[in-house]
Amino acid sequence: MKEISRRSFLAASAAAVTAAPALAAPSAPNAPGAPASKKSAPPPSRPGPLDVVIVGAGAAGIAAARRLSGSGLRVALVEAGAAVGGRCVTDTSTFGVPFDRGAHWLHMPDINPVAKLGAQTGLDLYPAPPGQRMRIGRRYAREGEMESYLSGMVRASTAIADASRRIDVSCAQALPKDLGDWRSTIEFVLGPFGCAKDLSEVSALDFAHSAERDVDLLCRQGFGALLARLAGGLPVELGNPATRISFSYGARRGVDVDTMRGTHSARAAIVTVSTNVLTSGKIKFDPDLPRRHLDAAAKLKLGSYDHIALELPDNPLALRADELVFEKSDSAHTAALFANVSGTPLSIVDVAGTFGRDLAAKGEDAMFDFAQSWLTGLFGVEIGKTVRRKYATRWNEEPWVLGAFSAAAPGAQGARRVLMEPVGERIWFAGEAAHETLWGTVGGAWESGERAADAVAKSLGRRAG
Ligand SMILES: Cc1cc2nc3c(=O)[nH]c(=O)nc-3n(C[C@H](O)[C@H](O)[C@H](O)COP(=O)(O)OP(=O)(O)OC[C@H]3O[C@@H](n4cnc5c(N)ncnc54)[C@H](O)[C@@H]3O)c2cc1C
Repeated sequence: MKEISRRSFLAASAAAVTAAPALAAPSAPNAPGAPASKKSAPPPSRPGPLDVVIVGAGAAGIAAARRLSGSGLRVALVEAGAAVGGRCVTDTSTFGVPFDRGAHWLHMPDINPVAKLGAQTGLDLYPAPPGQRMRIGRRYAREGEMESYLSGMVRASTAIADASRRIDVSCAQALPKDLGDWRSTIEFVLGPFGCAKDLSEVSALDFAHSAERDVDLLCRQGFGALLARLAGGLPVELGNPATRISFSYGARRGVDVDTMRGTHSARAAIVTVSTNVLTSGKIKFDPDLPRRHLDAAAKLKLGSYDHIALELPDNPLALRADELVFEKSDSAHTAALFANVSGTPLSIVDVAGTFGRDLAAKGEDAMFDFAQSWLTGLFGVEIGKTVRRKYATRWNEEPWVLGAFSAAAPGAQGARRVLMEPVGERIWFAGEAAHETLWGTVGGAWESGERAADAVAKSLGRRAG
């Protein structure tokens, strides 16, 4: 029953999204859908009066800026990095083919606003192959073995959902005892692979609230390329980090956002930086943010999830395009393989959770060594000899992100709602962490950005969209 009510809730919110004008045209100079200019619009040191400053041009910031673009409000969008997209960015230079350094799957396209908009960009969106394959040593799982794994997955998810209705324990505490020799695999798939954290660090309630992610679209040009398309024409200031946000609870209403290139004074701000950036002190708030908000962000800290990308010409693992492969493992030292991305020679080994965090901290060479010996062990092919170019992401070290995505700590699912509360009716937070069901996704970040834009517009007496 829980599944049905969650789905109908999501379907209802999706309907609300489609009711807004699709692909609302951002204001000139670029045509809608054109890629955001690499060269940022130079802000004057004291620009004219603004209504809203948006901090961060990831999915949430782009969505908020688009939503406000038709409202008549004057908006600035400041981005610390050299490109738009944040955790959803496509690199075409390392491998000569699109490589999504962060998000790659457009989850649940029926309810995903980015999938709906993406269909209008002219980029090639296609369904990801359903399901996954399982290696057991050097062979694939047989039908009966797969059945046993899948029934364990269902029992584990159901037990977590059941436990969450009583008390918000960790997912690990809620797991059934009888998962047998599939336990480590199920723990990896539900924990590090799904939530970027070990199950002992994830709230059962947060897990139970999260929407299913078992139907996906892929974008041949890259998910990051799609997001960059949607940012076309927005007034984004690249390479311009916000350093201080000053606001007032009293009569002197307004917000000053100090950036590397000057101060933007506005009537409101939407802050879309990750929870780890928010708690890092990289942006000073004056006065300090309420303890309540900082505690909420701390309880929603980002997990660890990285891609070890390997160029493997001539398909040495004999896999189809976009196949997802797990391993029946007996420890947490395992990974997921996403093979032959969009039919290219690029294959990706994903590491996550505590194991992935520790591995990434050791550096790229340790990550390549793990990926190559893991694949060699599973497929019996000497991978080290076949790899051409390679690259490993290290999201925990990315200075303007500092991690992968948020999963609430046990007992802390309510932190997401706290993060959605405005501060002094002047500062709103948005981003994947500020979404109760689509957290950890681009679609969730997008919806959260739109929601914050609507709230800001309303508080300023306008209608967004
Ligand atoms: C490896 C990996 C794989 C993933 N896979 C998927 C997937 O397949 N599908 C999916 O839906 N999701 C996936 N995700 C999650 C998804 O990428 C995020 O949920 C989403 O992109 C977050 O968007 P956001 O706008 O909330 O935050 P961000 O993308 O982090 O955007 C925030 C922006 O703020 C900027 N910023 C930070 N500090 C400042 C400052 N001081 N001043 C100005 N700007 C600043 C940052 O540079 C960034 O651009 C993945 C994430 C990772 C890391």
